[in-house]
Amino acid sequence: MKLCRYDGNRIGLVGPDGVRDVSEVLDSLPPQRWPAPIGDQFIAALADLKPAIEKAAAGKTPVAIDSISFLSPVANPSKIVAAPLNYPLHVDESHDVAINHGVHMPTHEGFDTPIDKYGLFLKAASGLVGAGEGVALGWPGRRNDHEVELGVVIGKTIRNATRDNALDCVAGYAIALDMTVRGTEDRSFRKSADSYSVLGPWLVTADEIADPDALDLSLTVDGEARQKSNTRHLICDVRDLIVRASAVYGLHPGDIIMTGTPDGVGEVWPGAVIHAEIESIGAMDVKVR
Ligand code: MN
Repeated sequence: MKLCRYDGNRIGLVGPDGVRDVSEVLDSLPPQRWPAPIGDQFIAALADLKPAIEKAAAGKTPVAIDSISFLSPVANPSKIVAAPLNYPLHVDESHDVAINHGVHMPTHEGFDTPIDKYGLFLKAASGLVGAGEGVALGWPGRRNDHEVELGVVIGKTIRNATRDNALDCVAGYAIALDMTVRGTEDRSFRKSADSYSVLGPWLVTADEIADPDALDLSLTVDGEARQKSNTRHLICDVRDLIVRASAVYGLHPGDIIMTGTPDGVGEVWPGAVIHAEIESIGAMDVKVR
């Protein structure tokens, strides 16, 4: 099942012939009172809502995908967890001082992987947008880069996941852009500007992705090839990232894990169009301004 959010928080079921409005299923979510429960309540209810979504879609007229401006399929993540230096060829290219600024060194002396040294980092949830909203450069005049990544959306609260049960907590997957300004500041600062986390174009439920660690992913800028890889090259795979994250903090419905970017990161500029694709998920165009 592919689900999108669009047009002022409508929910759509995405099919080959277009998007069907199934927003009426939101009426069954519990009314909210202060304090709001942690996490995204639509994602939390998604597994139970699937039959109602199918029913709501029946008989609806599909709207062409090209005519829709997509919001992030997750509205209210409690956090965006992200992996640094998680593909070998990206670790190699990060020896370039224009990327590491002499501070974020890709070496990992005494550790088996860069993530053993650096751990994971967090991006501000307020920086999350959908493909249709585009990226507004937060640091004009500096090097602002694209990073295409597999995005993992958590479906239920989990703490201390094991490799055996890690994927049981996944609601689905989406294409993620971990936008970045290069510089000396902490990753959490450089990657948390408004619109520096793009998720979309829709959420593909986990049952449609047999193996998240075997997906082709690619990115072009204005038609020029930049990034092309496969998630089988992840140093810490999807299960490992969930285990590592949930050992430190609870993961909640709607939390997003950006799994790391392959080699080929590069600069974008106002007016550029980023095109990102991931196998079994889809493709999205994201305008930079
Ligand atoms: Mn990244």
